[in-house]
Amino acid sequence: MFLRKVILPSLFLLGSMARGQFQEVQVAVLYDRSITAATLIGSKGPITVMADGRIVGELAPNDGLRIELKGGTLSARTLSGSYTARTKLTLVPRMKDGGVRLRPSVPKLSEHVYPGVIEVRIINGRLRFVNEARLEDYVAGVVQSEAGSDKPEEYYKLQAVSCRTYALANARKHEGEGFELCDQVHCQVYHGRADIPLIHAAVQETRGMVVVDANIRLIHATFHSNCGGETMNAEDVWSKAEPYLQGTVDTFCLAQPHATWRRSIGKAQWLNYLASTYGLRLDDKDAVREVLDQNPRCRELYLTARRPLIPLKQVRDDWKLNSTYFFIHAEGDSVVFDGRGFGHGVGLCQEGAMEMARDGYDFNDILHHYYRDVHLIDLGNLEFFREDGP
Ligand SMILES: [Zn+2]
Ligand SMILES: [Zn+2]
Repeated sequence: MFLRKVILPSLFLLGSMARGQFQEVQVAVLYDRSITAATLIGSKGPITVMADGRIVGELAPNDGLRIELKGGTLSARTLSGSYTARTKLTLVPRMKDGGVRLRPSVPKLSEHVYPGVIEVRIINGRLRFVNEARLEDYVAGVVQSEAGSDKPEEYYKLQAVSCRTYALANARKHEGEGFELCDQVHCQVYHGRADIPLIHAAVQETRGMVVVDANIRLIHATFHSNCGGETMNAEDVWSKAEPYLQGTVDTFCLAQPHATWRRSIGKAQWLNYLASTYGLRLDDKDAVREVLDQNPRCRELYLTARRPLIPLKQVRDDWKLNSTYFFIHAEGDSVVFDGRGFGHGVGLCQEGAMEMARDGYDFNDILHHYYRDVHLIDLGNLEFFREDGP
């Protein structure tokens, strides 16, 4: 075992044996929709059509396959013929970079283009569209859906390694349904093929790379919009600690769009809330003065040091505040909250990361700024470790 530990790190240096290895994901698309009819069209070249696993025909590039769920079976029509399937229809592009355009007609929804194969399955009496895509095509699609256009390339690279890491760490979320991931926030938002060249370049340049912690476990690449100048420890927000999710000072987000916020509420409302929820005694002048005047020098977990302890997390939820990081002062009949940041504050601060990328930091620097003691490794090496594990 000792020998193995010595040998393994040198394998990292050899680079990726598995780079370029064929990796695919199965993603249920339009997962939140109940679709009963749709048209499928090849994108870039012809499509082989299979019914219940057997090849039944070919779809020419100018033809569409109109499918419908009828009496528990799938019926499909093209210009030249018709097919039925009991469990699934599979559309396999013939060209390497081919894909499938999916146009739901009942209900009528806008078209999406998916890279790779589309399988139309009947699961529990309803249609499911499952996209079998190369991992890297899926990652590009997620990066585009999450980050949008006009971002620096290093930011796209950072997103690519985070999305890839998340996808692999969560690939069993839908195991019971017969696929790996859905296309909603529940997994990662995915609208299909990416069409921004810079995103494809970022995905290629980080091909196969994932982020692991000191124990070679895929990390939960948690993120939020803006930390307000200081990120949070995971255990202070979700009670479970992660060594790589530790609070850190962040000055990169301070001039960004969600760096500050202000909210004003009635003084009586505020005091009554604290009295009824936490038993604050309104006849205790010192306690009342404190809850009307707060100037924390750093992030805190409780409103004041005095008992009863009032968790800022709860205050944020109850009053729908942007963050738990705020100053308080009284103004006439009101209490004014001057806040910093937006979101839970754990892990990567997106606006800070974007600013770092614009300032010329590379994606590796940015990762290490927000996640402690993490490493970038190639997927192939990760699998090697797992197979070789205790
Ligand atoms: Zn999901
Ligand atoms: Zn920040």
